[in-house]
Amino acid sequence: MLKDQLKALEQEVQAALDAATDDVALEGIRLRFLGRSGEITNVRKSIGTLAPAERPEAGKAINTAAAALEARIEAARHGLALKQLHERLAERIDVTFPALPARMGSLHPIRRALEDACGYLQRLGFAVVLGNEVETERYNFDALNIPADHPAREGLDSFYLRPGVLLRTHTSPMQVRTMEAVPPPLAVVVPGKAYRRDAIDARHSPMFHQIEGLLVAPGIHLGHLKGTLTGLLRELFGASQAVRFRPSFFPFTEPSAEVDTTCPGCGGSGCKTCGGSGWIEVGGAGMVHPDVLRNAGYDPTAVQGWAFGIGIDRIVMVRHDVDDIRVLFENDPRVLATLR
Ligand SMILES: [Zn+2]
Repeated sequence: MLKDQLKALEQEVQAALDAATDDVALEGIRLRFLGRSGEITNVRKSIGTLAPAERPEAGKAINTAAAALEARIEAARHGLALKQLHERLAERIDVTFPALPARMGSLHPIRRALEDACGYLQRLGFAVVLGNEVETERYNFDALNIPADHPAREGLDSFYLRPGVLLRTHTSPMQVRTMEAVPPPLAVVVPGKAYRRDAIDARHSPMFHQIEGLLVAPGIHLGHLKGTLTGLLRELFGASQAVRFRPSFFPFTEPSAEVDTTCPGCGGSGCKTCGGSGWIEVGGAGMVHPDVLRNAGYDPTAVQGWAFGIGIDRIVMVRHDVDDIRVLFENDPRVLATLR
């Protein structure tokens, strides 16, 4: 019976395929069953012995069986290729090989400097407050005694989002915001980002980090400011730091000073970092202008205050001997790993 014959062939093929372990064996099976003088051809030859009426049906059954065998062999070839691939992959992975050390992340040097500075001031009793990076002209300029015709207010220096609203150009807006919210005495430190429309180069970035200090209480004077800054800079750079004030001008402080500290690179004798002067500039400071106190609702005859703003990026560059500020913002982990 043709049907039984084909069924038997199919079982025979499957048994042979199950035993085959390589492509050569598969090709042998294909020739044995589907080749020119193979089993299917033999069955096809037997059609001649059938009655003419049965022949078309028989031919159809044989073709179907041949296609099914072909498909089985192809599936076996595919399965074998997959198995061989897995074997090769397993060969290349030595699971007993010691693991590579995991690379541990660490805090960014800017973050560490901010935490060191804030931590020191917190131990002195300052509270850390964070401000909005988007500010109004009132808090960024007006209340800080920066009049409308001041160059800092021109669009070229600031990033305006819409008229009257801009990215803060310094952390100082929090001076007024905090004083409005809390009656004196007051001691706060404001770490954060500020934005100015500077072209990017080795020393400038349109985004930079500042730390703002503000102390307001009766009888506060410049001596307290210098003492606090000296302690802060010693915390950041070491116990032999000195602080120097150079007279300056800021609209929101009177008197105002640029703040220098001993160059940590040379200890004051002069080097490339400090341009030979022995000092590096770290920020600005001064006694809070009476108008600023008044704008915030404080009475300048009853309380006095000082404020400072320190550039944290500059501190980090000096601390880690980095001469290009862009290194701090590119965040290449290979570079940051050298700044620990
Ligand atoms: Zn130096």
